[in-house]
Amino acid sequence: MVETFEVAQTRPEQERAPALEKRNPQQMTDLLKLTQPDPVDWCEANIQLDYGKFDASKHPLMSEPLRSAANMRGGMTGLIGSVQHVKTLAAQLLQLYTAQTTPSRQAHYDLTKEALKEFSDDKFTPLINNTPAIKGIITDGRHAQTTYYTNFPFGFIRLLGARILAHRNSKTIEMVTLDESWAYETGWIDQIKDRLSSYPWSWRMFLPTSGQTAGSEIDVLWQRSTQKVWHVPCDCCGKMIPYIWTQPKQKNGEQLPGGMKFASGDDVLFDDQSTDYAKIKDSVYYECQLCAGQMTFNPATQHKRNQTGRYISMNPNGDDKIDFFNYNAMAHFPWGDLACQYHDAVASKNRGDLEALENFVRKRLAEPWDVSKFIVIADEEDSTGDYPSSEIWKDADYTFCTIDVQKDHFYYVIRSWSKGVESRLIEAHKALSDLHIVEMCEKYGILQDGMDGSGVFVDGNYNTTEVQRIAAKNGWIVLRGQNCKPFRHPDGLRKMYSEPVPVDTWQGTNEGDGRVKYCIQFWYAENEARSRFATLRGMSEPKRLWTHSNNAGTNYLNQLNSWARIAKTNPKDGSVYYDWKQTARNDHMYDCEKMQLVAAAMAGLIGVSEKPADEKD
Ligand SMILES: [Zn+2]
Repeated sequence: MVETFEVAQTRPEQERAPALEKRNPQQMTDLLKLTQPDPVDWCEANIQLDYGKFDASKHPLMSEPLRSAANMRGGMTGLIGSVQHVKTLAAQLLQLYTAQTTPSRQAHYDLTKEALKEFSDDKFTPLINNTPAIKGIITDGRHAQTTYYTNFPFGFIRLLGARILAHRNSKTIEMVTLDESWAYETGWIDQIKDRLSSYPWSWRMFLPTSGQTAGSEIDVLWQRSTQKVWHVPCDCCGKMIPYIWTQPKQKNGEQLPGGMKFASGDDVLFDDQSTDYAKIKDSVYYECQLCAGQMTFNPATQHKRNQTGRYISMNPNGDDKIDFFNYNAMAHFPWGDLACQYHDAVASKNRGDLEALENFVRKRLAEPWDVSKFIVIADEEDSTGDYPSSEIWKDADYTFCTIDVQKDHFYYVIRSWSKGVESRLIEAHKALSDLHIVEMCEKYGILQDGMDGSGVFVDGNYNTTEVQRIAAKNGWIVLRGQNCKPFRHPDGLRKMYSEPVPVDTWQGTNEGDGRVKYCIQFWYAENEARSRFATLRGMSEPKRLWTHSNNAGTNYLNQLNSWARIAKTNPKDGSVYYDWKQTARNDHMYDCEKMQLVAAAMAGLIGVSEKPADEKD
């Protein structure tokens, strides 16, 4: 029938690659387009899905990436999108189409062997068995079709694990699909690409993935790529627009039109501070970034827009051998649900937990995740509140005192917190005796009853035995910072602090009540507390939550900025993480404020979040 096809059919494996190389990649791509069936037509003719025969109009986001991947030679096609099953299905269809039209040494990668087994059992094997055009060409023999391997006369499809070193760099292959490649560590894609080097002109890769990590291997590829972004016609002006979640704030503070709009903040809170999700859903609409017209949501109009939608390159000078596509959940997911998910993610972030927001950015917006955007370097923040020291705050739900112990004096901070995680500095001073602190705590009604309840926390890492003794005497709690990960608790959640540990301070019981013999001590993860503190200080929208009094004094302010965060790159996956460095000798007030975060976490104000379910849908 066609030359390339016959070459592939009749020559043994070893001779095929050189024969194909007589053409350059562009000639090959052009020839393929002329001689192969269109992959979307092929799917409509051959593929049976759970809803019936493959219907391209049901998968508007998939057709163009599928064509690109089918015709790509000597290059890669990327699909950065929001729904897992669309992307995984695209990879499967590409594998089957290739097996029938240009059979070759093919492989599909997922992260682990367990993920592959599930993929094979639930998806890939049933799909093959339901596709007569493929089932009919599988070689005879007992081992021709197994969980991880399917053999054809002139090729095969192997399922491989990206986490498995031997799978990344063994025998040669010609075509690979890499599922969820955003989760790959740095270097894996390159290692796998090395397996394709026997086919310098005909190799190809298909990368279906969620939003990448900013600065990662996939991100670099995206930057160099054609950057084809899904566009739909605006209901109002009719111009083609990509769905954007929000417009970035302009330097001059101006807010440009465009993006998803919905009620938020205090407008969607009931009196008991719970969220009015119905109100969020009812208020949602999309504002066109070109004409500011309003587009409302219903599944039919969303589908209709997609039928006239198309991918438009945002980087016309991009490398056409790195053909990348991008769509987000606004094209196929109910907008009200997205708005609610975003609301919850932001609420989590406001408690110092970025995980839900990261999931939303990667798996819904299919955008690069850049943690540095959300964590602001502390000393750039002006957190001055509009209140003086020593002023009782009427909205306070909790007030804690935290103490840093020096050789012959103490530093202490008294801070009030609301259940909405807003907090105010009440006192920050040096004290020469613990008695003075006891009196200050009494003034603000802070409990000092040790095991029976205490809002006073003292740093026990210096002069530990003495601190434990003072804590037992005054009914305070001892905190011990540690360079460690958060602690796993019996309820399965990870928290920045440990379970309580009773400490015998060996004072005997002659002070009357035997209780003073013991104090309660907690360990806590110091870097976690520092990061959460920085996140909280960086929060300014919808309002600044963490503030200090407007007369806290320069000593307090200087010490507050005594630790700086330095960005480091994880050599494994290119992601950015933060480490901490002390930049000023005196950091006592900072330590006291850091311990306030631990106290707030114990009260359930900070970092309480359910683990978001993995959205592998
Ligand atoms: Zn418009």
